[in-house]
Amino acid sequence: MKEDFESLSASLHPSLRGGEVRIGARSSAESGIADFTDDYPRFTHEMKATHTILVPDMLPWHFDLLVHVIRREGYKVEVLHNEGREVIDEGLKHVHNDTCFPALCVIGQYLNALKSGKYDPEHTAVLITQSGGGCRASNYVPLIRKALKAEFPSVPVLSLNFSGLEKGNGLELNPGFILRLAYSIFYGDLIMSCFNQTKPYEVKEGASAEARVVCVEEIKRALDRGKYRKLKRYVLFILNTFAAVPVKSEKKIKVGIVGEIYVKYSPLGNSHLEDFLLQEGCEPVVPALMDFILYCIINNVNDAKLYGKNKKTAAVFKLVYRYAYGKQKKIIKWTKQHGRYEPMHDFERLRACADLVINQGVKMGEGWLIPAEMAALAETGTENIVCAQPFGCLPNHIAGKGAARVVRKLYPDANIVPVDYDPSATKVNQENRIKLMLATAREKL
Ligand code: SF4
Repeated sequence: MKEDFESLSASLHPSLRGGEVRIGARSSAESGIADFTDDYPRFTHEMKATHTILVPDMLPWHFDLLVHVIRREGYKVEVLHNEGREVIDEGLKHVHNDTCFPALCVIGQYLNALKSGKYDPEHTAVLITQSGGGCRASNYVPLIRKALKAEFPSVPVLSLNFSGLEKGNGLELNPGFILRLAYSIFYGDLIMSCFNQTKPYEVKEGASAEARVVCVEEIKRALDRGKYRKLKRYVLFILNTFAAVPVKSEKKIKVGIVGEIYVKYSPLGNSHLEDFLLQEGCEPVVPALMDFILYCIINNVNDAKLYGKNKKTAAVFKLVYRYAYGKQKKIIKWTKQHGRYEPMHDFERLRACADLVINQGVKMGEGWLIPAEMAALAETGTENIVCAQPFGCLPNHIAGKGAARVVRKLYPDANIVPVDYDPSATKVNQENRIKLMLATAREKL
């Protein structure tokens, strides 16, 4: 009997041995279904010189600088800008439509690019950022590997995260590299905020875009020369460059954008929401990416208090938080002193806003950050808010759409519209929902 079992076990696919035994199970090669528990290609140090790393178009405001920093470390990086129905359809071939829409977009963009013939699959890798929470995003890497295994099995997947995921299979981080990335996010946030507060009012079409290029090039030079930590100098440079753009004095409707991190920022994910709002004669107000980073950091501190997690880890995160929050406070102070632009939200104020609506223990997905941003926008005069949500994203539906009623109760003038982004939603439907919200806003204006 023992021998029978051993010979049966030996004939099974390796991934089934020792786990659930299913008589008659076929290997991934036999079944034609990729098995993501199989071994996968890893990105080695030598590949830095030979491989082009493809990055999905997630952070159009920040990648100008972040990609520059990664290239300085010796990596060959390219941000993908392919979009359209064929990208979504490519994603749908490998990702069930119940899976997170961001995963579908990212995988669709990788595969569509690899199939374009522009990249040699033997010398190409793909990169994904991970926040490392309990959400499904922590499983995007196996999902991407599964899709690539079926079509481009030699392409490795790299992860950029600070939570210990995918050890030995990400970018080789060092303190200087991390610091440059962090400063690039601060500067990227400020450029995004100043652009959005200038563009709708510019006298000469394209002047704000020119100011953006001037700022990005100046910060790149600062990063190359090692001067990027002169925060005040470069914050004032950005503020002054945008302030020099001639503007008309008009009153426009301000529209805040909150929601799941990918659809909030990615033009592919949110059907070019910022462009649409500009076309409608509005001023988009997009909260800072650094707020999301601070949210991830402070959640690790809260974990020790609320869920009894490791206190030593929490202490380290507390130090990192103090450092990053200290920088944010300075940027806010200098922006206020400059006087031309509305500063970004103060993260401690965001936490206080969250406490009015939801517990800070709610941290799946973007969790408490979404109601916190809605409340902070409403109390700083941006009462019209689009809450961008990927269809099927349970955590953000609860913390976004689910919390909107409480935010409206606190701020009766808050005009919030939740908008779903999913593979079957049409751009027209999404825009019509926003137009309805804008009709109410125009009446009030
Ligand atoms: S936040 Fe939503 S979209 Fe993002 S991984 Fe979690 S469930 Fe998916």
